[in-house]
Amino acid sequence: MDQRVTTTDVRRRIPRTDAVLGDPRLIEAAQRLGSGAVKAAVRQAQERARAGAIAPDGVADTAVALLPRTAGGLRPVINATGVVLHTNLGRASLSAAARRAVREAAGPTDIELDLRTGVRARRGHAALAALRERVPSGAAAHVVNNGAAALVLVATAIAAGKEIVISRGEMVEIGDGFRLPDLLVSTGARLREVGTTNRTSVADYAAVIGPETAFVLKVHPSNFRVTGFTRAAGTGELAALGVPVVVDIGSGLLAPHPLLPDEPDAETRLRAGASLVTASGDKLLGGPQCGLLLGQEELVRTVSRHPLARALRVDKLTLAALEATLTGPETPTAVALAAGPAGLRHRAERLASALAADGIDVRAVESAASVGGGGAPGVTLPSAALSLPERYAAALRTGPVPVVGRLEAGRCLLDLRAVAREDDERLAEAVRSVGGPAATDPAAGAVTDPAAEG
Ligand SMILES: *Cc1c(COP(=O)(O)O)cnc(C)c1O
Repeated sequence: MDQRVTTTDVRRRIPRTDAVLGDPRLIEAAQRLGSGAVKAAVRQAQERARAGAIAPDGVADTAVALLPRTAGGLRPVINATGVVLHTNLGRASLSAAARRAVREAAGPTDIELDLRTGVRARRGHAALAALRERVPSGAAAHVVNNGAAALVLVATAIAAGKEIVISRGEMVEIGDGFRLPDLLVSTGARLREVGTTNRTSVADYAAVIGPETAFVLKVHPSNFRVTGFTRAAGTGELAALGVPVVVDIGSGLLAPHPLLPDEPDAETRLRAGASLVTASGDKLLGGPQCGLLLGQEELVRTVSRHPLARALRVDKLTLAALEATLTGPETPTAVALAAGPAGLRHRAERLASALAADGIDVRAVESAASVGGGGAPGVTLPSAALSLPERYAAALRTGPVPVVGRLEAGRCLLDLRAVAREDDERLAEAVRSVGGPAATDPAAGAVTDPAAEG
């Protein structure tokens, strides 16, 4: 039989695009995902039929199987890295309340309107009120896109053309090559560096403060630790120098956290005399990405009325999530931080014995988790993990429900501290779906630089 005849024959039997698109499953998918994604899946399926990889009458089924899960490229993953705030995984996981608030705010919403009077209201007034309620010493508040934006706005509005006094021990890189000193200088402010890497005293600051000083900036070294012969000036001492003191606390703790005694919090710093505190919303606060500014009314007004504030303003979804984070139940971040080692161990053992019963090479092991996201450097959170063969790392990451673990001593560890208890079954299902031994590239393992960014 002539090979060409067979090929032509198969090609003729491949259904036309519009015929495949008439499949009810693909009509439904087009409404959910957009017609572009559906057509691309159909074309791919037709290609496979043309290449002889599938039968011509399997094109519709294959197209359905090839459809993306969501219209967007971002996939939900299970964070089994043991890093609670993983920058590469989007830092804080929003609470159910915050997710609901985001969905509700997605349509038209009263973000800048007082529904009672029908007149314009301050944008995000409810979220700002919630913030001030949680931080009583902050007379006023403002929200921008992220922690870096908060600093840029403060420097621009208060210090452009003037000096920011900062310790050499606090000139930090926050991650991905971005450095706070560069960020501050980009606003037109000048940095007046004082002290040394390990030691800076109040006298060092006092010696340079003058008419050119806009403010003293204290930056929390949130992603590294300097130990040994060290010294830093406290907020209270600096406040006595007579110029505004801006404190970048980084992590967004609003009040002291019993498990993280070295993490600064907004309320304590303001009470100690800080004029302004800046922080991120998606670190220890456990909310959406945003930058918080809290402090003296006049300074907050100056900052929030600056033209740049308009360019850094947050959207309604962020404000909705922030308010629900502030007023709602405990965040997943708080739950993960507070989880007791015994409870984690119990979950790991239960999962391991169920999976081992299915013939999987798995055991429950002790593990060391961390806060991550540029918070609480050096703090180890005792945890528990499932230990699996190394090849699971890549297979789990690329599976239908992506799970990101970490590689340790030739094993793939799935640390449970940052995994919501409700996700245990999905995690087990993902492990089961990996199946028997297969050749995978161990170099393509878990994310290896978990807490790289601050
Ligand atoms: C994380 C961090 C920043 C940057 O905040 P983003 O929200 O990531 O922009 C700035 N300063 C400190 C001390 C931080 O920890």
